[in-house]
Amino acid sequence: MTADPLIDFSRLCVHTITTKGWELEEAVDRYAEAGLSGVTVWRQWLEGTDPTRAGDRIRGAGLKVVSLCRGGFYPAFQEKSRIDSIEDNKRAIEDAAGLGAPLVVLVCGAVPGQSLEESRKQIRDGIAATLPLAESLGVKLAIEPLHPMYADDRSAINSLASANDMCEQLNHSLVGIAYDVYHLWWDPELEAQTRRMIDTNRLFAYHVCDWMTPTTDLLNDRGLMGEGCIDLRRIRHLLESQGFNGMIEVEVFSTRWWEKPPGEFLEAIKQAYLQYT
Ligand code: ZN
Repeated sequence: MTADPLIDFSRLCVHTITTKGWELEEAVDRYAEAGLSGVTVWRQWLEGTDPTRAGDRIRGAGLKVVSLCRGGFYPAFQEKSRIDSIEDNKRAIEDAAGLGAPLVVLVCGAVPGQSLEESRKQIRDGIAATLPLAESLGVKLAIEPLHPMYADDRSAINSLASANDMCEQLNHSLVGIAYDVYHLWWDPELEAQTRRMIDTNRLFAYHVCDWMTPTTDLLNDRGLMGEGCIDLRRIRHLLESQGFNGMIEVEVFSTRWWEKPPGEFLEAIKQAYLQYT
């Protein structure tokens, strides 16, 4: 049997949260059967399991462990909470090392009522406090800039420029960026900041989905690729014309899709990946 060159899933990775109805074991088996190549594991999917065994299981099924999602949430009013967050991020780094995931994705956090400047300072200090462990275990840390609609309580890093700035301040080869089209597509500086990111070797992960019109839920109404208004081909070209050839990770939080059987969703993901990504 000859493989159809147009049907190539060698760069297709899915986040476990995308197929939310499946536990890790089932997700791994179904992804492998479907011919996918990678999985990004969300931490909830590791609860009660040994990360090393989970990593072996994933690789045993022929899939690559692409990332562990997610650490972060560094800012807090209370120092005790900031210390707890650093400890939790260290556990995430240890779990990533056990799992064999090369990187932890960071949703950096923000606190309503605290200035974004102060939150960014706390983010910088929080990441810096985990760098010695990340270094000793060889785990990368990928800052994910979030759309500004999340600036109140999910992240004080709300553009590719501010993620690039944070990387520049931390100035460490293990600190880079998780580039998610959902958060970045609108940015008039996207091209220039993408060049800046790639020139400094900071592109660590690429997440895709789509932006629905209207968006009915700030968190759980992402579209499958092709359902919304993001020019995915343009963004992919922007990255690939500068040398990117890594995994393309499908990360869709969608109450609408989660109501359907995950197997049906996975089929739709494969089609959308080939047609629109
Ligand atoms: Zn993402």
